[in-house]
Amino acid sequence: MGSFADFYRRSIEDRDGFWAEQAALIDWETPPRQICDASQPPFTRWYAGGRTNLCHNAVDRHLATRASQPALICVSTETGTERTWTFAELHAEVQRMAAAMLELGVRQGDRVLIYMPMIAEAAFAMLACARIGAIHSVVFGGFASGSLASRIEDAAPVLIVSADAGSRSGKVVPYRPLLDEAIRLSSHKPGAVLLVDRQLDAMNLIAGRDHLWRTLREKHLNSVVPCEWLDATHPSYTLYTSGTTGKPKGVQRDTGGYAVALAASMKYIFEGKPGETYFSTSDIGWVVGHSYIVYGPLIAGMATLMYEGLPVRPDAGIWWQLVEKYKVTRMFSAPTAVRVLKKHDAAWLKKYDLSSLKALYLAGEPLDEPTAQWISQGLGVPVIDNYWQTETGWPILTLANGVERAASKFGSPGVPMYGYNVKLLDENTGEELQGAGRKGVVAIEGPLPPGCMQTVWRDDARFVNTYWKSIPGRLVYNTFDWGIRDGDGYFFILGRTDDVINVAGHRLGTREIEESIASHPNVAEVAVVGVADTLKGQVAMAFAVVKDASALTDEPARLKLEGEIMKAVDAQLGAVARPARVRFVTVLPKTRSGKLLRRAIQAVCEGRDPGDLTTIEDPAALQQIRDLLAA
Ligand code: ATP
Ligand code: MG
Repeated sequence: MGSFADFYRRSIEDRDGFWAEQAALIDWETPPRQICDASQPPFTRWYAGGRTNLCHNAVDRHLATRASQPALICVSTETGTERTWTFAELHAEVQRMAAAMLELGVRQGDRVLIYMPMIAEAAFAMLACARIGAIHSVVFGGFASGSLASRIEDAAPVLIVSADAGSRSGKVVPYRPLLDEAIRLSSHKPGAVLLVDRQLDAMNLIAGRDHLWRTLREKHLNSVVPCEWLDATHPSYTLYTSGTTGKPKGVQRDTGGYAVALAASMKYIFEGKPGETYFSTSDIGWVVGHSYIVYGPLIAGMATLMYEGLPVRPDAGIWWQLVEKYKVTRMFSAPTAVRVLKKHDAAWLKKYDLSSLKALYLAGEPLDEPTAQWISQGLGVPVIDNYWQTETGWPILTLANGVERAASKFGSPGVPMYGYNVKLLDENTGEELQGAGRKGVVAIEGPLPPGCMQTVWRDDARFVNTYWKSIPGRLVYNTFDWGIRDGDGYFFILGRTDDVINVAGHRLGTREIEESIASHPNVAEVAVVGVADTLKGQVAMAFAVVKDASALTDEPARLKLEGEIMKAVDAQLGAVARPARVRFVTVLPKTRSGKLLRRAIQAVCEGRDPGDLTTIEDPAALQQIRDLLAA
């Protein structure tokens, strides 16, 4: 590959040449006529004129060389089941699912909403949609009927694929009643519902609407459904952002550009080899699940491990036991999951043979240094931070190969990936911030590389106005994250643009304050928000979860710990960054994807309405904060 710097430069300076080369990583029925059509900015059409299929590239393409190798491994510690499908077996299941969809009236361009737990049939359904050119819209299985209803409304699906139930921590979580309620709430009614019966919860089928997967599968046991060759720009799916900063946005992705982007990222970033096993601990309801549970590893000819269960059940060694058993080479997880493991004995990281594992990739939230150190020392493999968004589909910033990885810096996800023309801009003037050490908005100069969002589903105006017109004077993609670049070109993400606190004229990133609080040995997790203050403009408020709650027996003890934490902040950042209060809670409000809901905490602190909370994990967490403030 030569030096990464040269590789990167070429991706920007010879964009079409570079991406024409990457296009050869996948199979095309018709090669593209044009590489990048950027004639109508900010819209970009990648590989126009080309025809391909995601399912072909993920499954069929491998049959000639690895039909009998593992493709999909599903482990559920909830139901105690474990099963492997080879590429040939996956091919057969996907065709059965595709045949069932066709029978239920699904045609190319129709939407299929997938509301499923982490079971094999969820992957079959996604791949079956890709096979026949239906647009899938996967909704995280943990969402309740209200969030589901708004997504049904938006996607207007011909078919919904679901199951009787999921399971969490050994407790059955029925899906079917939530689905029925969501369909009732939605003005759009799907033509059909296809249900996987896991025999976890009783289901009464609604005649004429509901169909059992088991029955249709039997009927289509030998059905042959060829891949539809689709235009490269044909939408493959829609997916909602996590809703951390507001109402979730429906991201629309294409087909050809996405396939190429994933194939390239598997080669240059994740370095997965055919025949190896990839284990991403995410959920198919999130972008990581789309790119790096289902499509990416399979496109690379790897087996992908899908896991239903908690990281600490039956014990905190379960993931590492799976790494040993399936000889996982590449693993993908999130800082929030590592923080859960960190509450348990580090000896679990040493109990199993992890010699197959080459790297652990983490994304989704800033990776704080204590967490990064703990996991990388425990596992003895490189821990690679990568920064991206639902919108982009694959990493914007990370470290692409051996050269850069050797120089990894804690706290930095790394450097811009090929194809991403990343800039730091002044939020108010749009001026480009050159040189090192200047804080700015992380922005991407168009055209966005292949794999990134085409538009907001059915809302081009929102795509243009939200993402491209928020920085004065230029048409540039706004990530809504703050960053800083050091003299070596490494970026540090300082948090969301709306997570900056202005204390008496000093601009402080909430993340910096959180990091300094987290350096206290008894702090497990912390959220810092800026709260309006008549005197100083804003003050920082901190909410912390402690490791050892015995330090909090009474008010004097709490005040003592609060004082210690404030001293740590004073010492590290200066008194200006010292939070007005540090309050203690047992759990922080997070989205279902594990991201801190700072905007909701801030709203509660300021006595405002917390806004869209449809993606919150545990509403009781916000209540704890309300109670504390009221006390
Ligand atoms: P919404 O856009 O609906 O408010 P969201 O931004 O949380 O929700 P996602 O697309 O799931 O939705 O998350 C992307 C965001 O997560 C990034 O913009 C960034 O703020 C954060 N993020 C992801 N990876 C990293 C990372 N490695 N380091 C720091 N922040 C990260
Ligand atoms: Mg976002």
